[in-house]
Amino acid sequence: MSKFFCAEMFSNKVFLNDWRESTGGSCDVVEPATGNVLAKIALGSSDDIRLAVTEAKKQQSHWANLPFDQRGNILRRAAELILQHKDTFIEWNIRECGSMAPKAEAELHASLEQLNMAAAMTMQPDGVTLPSAIPGRRNTCRRVPLGVVGVITPWNFPLLLAMRSVAPALAAGNSVVLKPDHQSAITGGLLIARLFEEAGLPKGVLQVIPGGAEAGEALVEHPMTAMISFTGSTNVGKKIGRTCGELLKKSALELGGNNAFIVLDDADIEAASSHGAWGAYLHQGQICMQAGRHFVHESVAEEYISRLAERAERLRVADPYLGASDIGPLINASQLAKINKIITESVEAGAKLITGGHSHDQFYRPTVLSNIRVDMPACQQELFGPVAPVITFSSEDELVEMIAASPYGLAAAIHSRSIGRAMKLADRVPAGMIHINDQTVNNEFHVPFGGFGDSGNSGRFGGPANFEEFTQSQWVSVMDIPVTYPF
Ligand code: NAD
Repeated sequence: MSKFFCAEMFSNKVFLNDWRESTGGSCDVVEPATGNVLAKIALGSSDDIRLAVTEAKKQQSHWANLPFDQRGNILRRAAELILQHKDTFIEWNIRECGSMAPKAEAELHASLEQLNMAAAMTMQPDGVTLPSAIPGRRNTCRRVPLGVVGVITPWNFPLLLAMRSVAPALAAGNSVVLKPDHQSAITGGLLIARLFEEAGLPKGVLQVIPGGAEAGEALVEHPMTAMISFTGSTNVGKKIGRTCGELLKKSALELGGNNAFIVLDDADIEAASSHGAWGAYLHQGQICMQAGRHFVHESVAEEYISRLAERAERLRVADPYLGASDIGPLINASQLAKINKIITESVEAGAKLITGGHSHDQFYRPTVLSNIRVDMPACQQELFGPVAPVITFSSEDELVEMIAASPYGLAAAIHSRSIGRAMKLADRVPAGMIHINDQTVNNEFHVPFGGFGDSGNSGRFGGPANFEEFTQSQWVSVMDIPVTYPF
């Protein structure tokens, strides 16, 4: 039995200063590929969250005042440990979240880099000096911690999406209360608690309380959480944004997407169809950056659709834990029902089903739809399933108008043999991240990540953005001797 983590040791426990029972009941961890119950986890109640925030607040200044190298050492130790226990993290990611092994490995690696980057962040310059018009005065603008940061995460990339907030927030001297989604609470919660516990993080600096909407609301509403870092749906994000606005608390909102994947008439169609398939079907399409709307020039649409459909048909749909699979299960039955409804209604409205469109158990066949109009559900809604709707266009003006019909603005991709033309078009695409001759699902840990419009409030994660995001600015001025005022 692994001393680092075995589900029985931590079943029915949350990490509130230490491992302890919760007051919010419990739920089963169900393997989406088989329906088997893998474990039982505790759910935090609003009271548990409130206590966690109070306890985190007590520890925050002590943590922030530790010498920076000691904070860095703990983050470096966490990075060593995540590598040492990578098999445990990867296996839980595959089984609990229905992830393919390469996705789980990539997520592990990206989380490791988040830890390395956070460790280095502790030794970065923490401010600037500015001149003063007053003789003898020195002005410093320094970055100081916010206090307690509440982190709320979804189930699709639970390890990385938690780590990209938890690690830099800790590095900047904040304490953290993490509330992972109950459907991925082991990969995206309890394992992270174990990691930092083993790494020697002082007790109370990180609290991990799995739970649902009620627990999340208690975290957002608590007067002692100075910031909420939320990744999830646009609807919930807007609600959180409203509450944070009213309470004058900082919020970083990373929300949904319906990303434009654009194929111009001079594109390499073979490459574009491969990128289109990867962007649409990776992790069963359950990615915020999914290529959700395939805008293809009418002169190359037939060839694109046929190559994309060939690729979709070659994909193996099976339990990723057993190997020999490209597409795993959807996270839950309601997600599957939602995708079915979008496809059925779009077909009723005139879309053509080229391939896919059916399921067995919780597995959905990769699907290609053509004859899509922007008013159809397959174009209007975030898909979050293995579906590639193709919309044709005849001019760039028409294309730009159709792209703007969606309120989302997370990622976009443009395929063209003319980089100049693609760059010019990129100027007209309202998205926070644009990739030329690539697909929409891209994440580099050190490059600021974030969306426009309904995809977020333009906060950024990664690299230089982390300091800005997880600290606040403080002006400190020093006079050599006290000035003399008129009275
Ligand atoms: P969700 O919004 O339903 O849930 C996300 C988290 O919020 C969960 O932990 C949930 O328990 C919590 N929550 C739910 N209601 C809440 C409330 N009222 N107050 C506080 N917390 C609450 O999203 P989901 O279905 O878990 O995830 C899928 C969504 O996340 C998609 O829209 C996807 O695009 C988005 N997402 C965005 C990014 C990004 O970086 N932009 C990354 C991954 C996923």
